[in-house]
Amino acid sequence: MTRRLVIAIDGPSGSGKSSTSKGVAQRLGLAYLDTGAMYRAVTCAFLDAGVDPSDADKVVAATVGADLEISTDPADQWVRVNGEDVTQRIREQEVSAKVSAVSTLPACRANLVERQRAIIDAAPDGIVAEGRDITTVVAPDADLRVLLTADPEVRMARRNLDLGGDVDKAILTDQVLRRDRDDSTLVNFTTAADGVVHLDGTYLTLPETIDAIVELVQGR
Ligand code: C5P
Repeated sequence: MTRRLVIAIDGPSGSGKSSTSKGVAQRLGLAYLDTGAMYRAVTCAFLDAGVDPSDADKVVAATVGADLEISTDPADQWVRVNGEDVTQRIREQEVSAKVSAVSTLPACRANLVERQRAIIDAAPDGIVAEGRDITTVVAPDADLRVLLTADPEVRMARRNLDLGGDVDKAILTDQVLRRDRDDSTLVNFTTAADGVVHLDGTYLTLPETIDAIVELVQGR
């Protein structure tokens, strides 16, 4: 019997961590958890409940009360909140612009971290989990922990492509630079913690980045 394998990957927006993590999971036959999708789905829930993003108590209540289901199949990603399929909607600008209302509240983070640990523990063969605090908070005991970064200009260019190209500069700045700033108020994902491998993907293609991580796994 082979051992379960848990791989934790963190990085800022546009670093390529979702595509990379999915690719690594597929190559190694592991499950995949997009923790950012959980923060985004909860954002849909509080918006649907008509909650003002600045009303912390209500944002926490919407988070704790959210019925959240997420796929861990890297080839078939979906997410549902309170019975609604929000797979497409979580990528919309409104959600990207408001998600920090959830991620900057410690009580929301604690609730989602607990759910994420349960999903990681339930994956029979192991999992690649990605986000901002996986290497440090959610799975500090993972078999391999990687911080994937890339220069800001490259991350903005990648996000532009993700969103179909030709995206307004102000939207890209909001989605990448402003979000990094808000996201780093509670979590450090710009420097690698002890034992975390820093991989700079600025000059790497997606297949090269996946290869680099698979090699790190094989080297352990
Ligand atoms: O990775 P993605 O850009 O989809 O994440 C959406 C948002 O969720 C981030 O901007 C951040 O606010 C939050 N997040 C987080 N911790 C994680 C994953 C995501 O705070 N582990």
